[in-house]
Amino acid sequence: MSLKFGVKGYDVPVRYQPDVCIIGAGASGVSAAVAAARLKMSVVLIEKYGFSGGATVAGLSGTICGLYSSGKKPQQIVFGFADEFYKILKAKKGVAEPVKFGSTLLVPHDALKWKESADDLLIEHNCTILYHTYFLKAFTDEAGRISSLLVKGQEGQFAIKPKFVIDASGDAEVINSISGTTFLGNNGVVQTPTMIFKMANVNMPDFLAIDPADLSRKVAEADASGNYNLPRHHVYVFPLPNTGEVLCNMTRITYKDGSIPLGINSTDLTFAEIEGRKQSKEYARFLTEQIPAFSKAYIADTGVQVGIRQTRSIVGKDKLMNDDVATGKKNKNAITFSAWPIELHSKSGIKIHHLEDDFYDIPFETLIPQKAVNYLVAGRCMSAEHEALASARVTAQCFGMGYSAGAACGLMLHENLIASQLNGMMVKTWMKQHNLKSSNEK
Ligand SMILES: Cc1cc2nc3c(=O)[nH]c(=O)nc-3n(C[C@H](O)[C@H](O)[C@H](O)COP(=O)(O)OP(=O)(O)OC[C@H]3O[C@@H](n4cnc5c(N)ncnc54)[C@H](O)[C@@H]3O)c2cc1C
Repeated sequence: MSLKFGVKGYDVPVRYQPDVCIIGAGASGVSAAVAAARLKMSVVLIEKYGFSGGATVAGLSGTICGLYSSGKKPQQIVFGFADEFYKILKAKKGVAEPVKFGSTLLVPHDALKWKESADDLLIEHNCTILYHTYFLKAFTDEAGRISSLLVKGQEGQFAIKPKFVIDASGDAEVINSISGTTFLGNNGVVQTPTMIFKMANVNMPDFLAIDPADLSRKVAEADASGNYNLPRHHVYVFPLPNTGEVLCNMTRITYKDGSIPLGINSTDLTFAEIEGRKQSKEYARFLTEQIPAFSKAYIADTGVQVGIRQTRSIVGKDKLMNDDVATGKKNKNAITFSAWPIELHSKSGIKIHHLEDDFYDIPFETLIPQKAVNYLVAGRCMSAEHEALASARVTAQCFGMGYSAGAACGLMLHENLIASQLNGMMVKTWMKQHNLKSSNEK
């Protein structure tokens, strides 16, 4: 296609004119793409890495949180697309048995199977995937619509002119580029990053006998002994589906003065990557020297990217508040829901607040940026207060948010609506009419 982009100063070809263009192929971007494609819309999915999965795969976050209830007998309560993807992973032997996390459960998964499953689903749904393609900038017209997106592929820069855009970048890259309002954590303080690493050749029977609280106590003692430098004491380790492999969520990355590197700044990210790998090596040394189950183990991998829990959040038509999560608030406009605890990683430690025998709702309006015309967000950059996001950002809920955002593009197209006119009830009804399962449907 040799259409001219039509924006002064940018002499690039227009390569695609899809119904929907999605930026970011993490859990929210993949689910958005599948939902939009199921409504017979053409979909282009832009991803800077060479694979889907985002933080789950590139960051090795490695477990599906948010599927189960919280209480004495946790049950799976979140279904819809999250359950569909869980079942696909299960069929490929890509998940381990659910593991206890406080009073709920999480499901460890294999990163390679996640990538494969996403590729298969996207191809099956005729989505155009553009890996190794970087979103640079969005342009708006007089009506405030996003008219075009400038991206950089390996062949150079080109433009996409979509009818609708979903910002599933985690960092609200699209909204930020059109000067939409965003905010950072709690007055600029975000959650701490973690470099997750994988240990292989672990003695699994011995590992499974470890009491997690005991392991955290040993980390604290080793740090206090002066023989190890282990800044985080409350650690998580999960068995992976592959025999002998364990996922280690143990590191905590801050500068020496305690300030927290930002995931939207290259200098900070570079520091976090290098510090994260250094810490991973030190925690692995502790494990192999002090914990018998790891005596013959070795580091098999660190994340392709350091795990960034929080960057920009949008200011939405609605906002998920800390109290909404803490008190299990229900909302008629919910498009997904969660019993995952507030799991707040800060420089002083981890605060965990469980929702015993309860859950809270996530309204669709948290995905609608203020004054939005033909665009929505999905996933981690939703509109949420700091502690609320420390719960809502996990994989099962990102799947639910993305799926409803993809569906909502179909609703806007067919009913000639703009994003700010949408509400959760309308989206839920539309999804039902078009056989797109909500998070509470098996
Ligand atoms: C350390 C850590 C541990 C975690 N542990 C768990 C856990 O155990 N279980 C769980 O369920 N959740 C966990 N989470 C949370 C969860 O992984 C993420 O919040 C969730 O995956 C976010 O999904 P998303 O789709 O919103 O964003 P992401 O997964 O961040 O996806 C965004 C995608 O957009 C792409 N992108 C960004 N900018 C651009 C651009 N300019 N151009 C092109 N592509 C771009 C990125 O490469 C990425 O693939 C953890 C997170 C972290 C950081």
